[in-house]
Amino acid sequence: MTETTDTGGPNEIPPAILFDMDGVVLEGRGTDPSVYERAADAAVESLGVEPTDDQLAGLRAHGYDAVEGHCETLGVDPTEFWRLKERFASEISSGRLQSGRRGVYADADVIRSIASETTTALVSNNRHETVEFVADYFRFPFDAVRGRDPTPAGFRRRKPDPAYLLETLDALDVDDGIYVGDRETDVVAAERAGLEAAYLRRPHNRTRPLPEGSTYELHSLEELLGIVGAAHPS
Ligand SMILES: [Mg+2]
Repeated sequence: MTETTDTGGPNEIPPAILFDMDGVVLEGRGTDPSVYERAADAAVESLGVEPTDDQLAGLRAHGYDAVEGHCETLGVDPTEFWRLKERFASEISSGRLQSGRRGVYADADVIRSIASETTTALVSNNRHETVEFVADYFRFPFDAVRGRDPTPAGFRRRKPDPAYLLETLDALDVDDGIYVGDRETDVVAAERAGLEAAYLRRPHNRTRPLPEGSTYELHSLEELLGIVGAAHPS
């Protein structure tokens, strides 16, 4: 672990360590685009609408703006379409985790040791249903989990907006700690939420410049064991 700024004095155990999910706990940078394509197709079928190829491409893409425009043209409530697409995406994602098509990084096991020393949470831009599923399915002992709400407003509150981090800190009744992420937006959100940012190197961000504002640069989650004084899991 490299400490990129002088935090002064001997390190104390942070009151909380919050983890991003995609690219930190779950393998890969993010949700596979095919998940959103299949989810959009399922929502289209469920609503019984018949979009053109162009409209369908917009509905399938990961983002809200195109969805809103095409839904209005098709006479569908965009919020309702969005809710359905998010629900189907969560179902499809759960299936991919259950079938082993997507797994967790081997070093995520240390979260169990870290959780016995300090408060932990999983805070992600991914859908709340999927974040809860990951915590339950892989039996991580997080004290709190938070993903985005399945609404357009919930989508807009994603990082770098610190909203979900701040809500989680509030729920945990802590106001200090470390957020571990793999993107620049994680570092920005951490700073905005008053947290130290730990930038984790993974294969997909190996050559990216270290984001400005990173307090730590990690090459494995195992490096966190040192700062909480936990033993390596046997
Ligand atoms: Mg991530």
